[in-house]
Amino acid sequence: MIIVSACLMGDKCRYDGESKPCSKVISFVSGHEVLKVCPECLGLLPIPREPSEIVNGDGLGVVNGECKVRSRSFVDVSSHFLKGAEEVLNLCRKFEPSAIILKSKSPSCGCGMIYDGTFSGKLKKGDGVTTALLKKNGFLVITEQDLV
Ligand code: SF4
Repeated sequence: MIIVSACLMGDKCRYDGESKPCSKVISFVSGHEVLKVCPECLGLLPIPREPSEIVNGDGLGVVNGECKVRSRSFVDVSSHFLKGAEEVLNLCRKFEPSAIILKSKSPSCGCGMIYDGTFSGKLKKGDGVTTALLKKNGFLVITEQDLV
């Protein structure tokens, strides 16, 4: 079982109602059992939705209650992001996936680098909320950019 960000598999679950299909990911998981997840949808955010970014911190900070995820109009959507992260963690515990491939840069799925909270396309170091919670619980997360 491989757990994958649904948008990388072509699901139209992004904030703008679009997908981000990645041919490297689709061919990597071919022949494996795949579970597609979208943490923001599992956190009961709608499609489409306002884009959100983590302000003054990173996903681990959100998990630890030290900073917030805010939409572009500055609405605090942290509880949705945390709910989605918990749902994905439960799925990882249940299925014990051999790999977890999440979408780079996302405030939920990003791993290593995320958007910096200014909605300007700039990046900062850190993980998204779901990735941070998974890592905190001992799971290894990679992004589509780690596949060669
Ligand atoms: S990056 Fe993650 S949260 Fe965002 S649309 Fe893709 S799967 Fe959903």
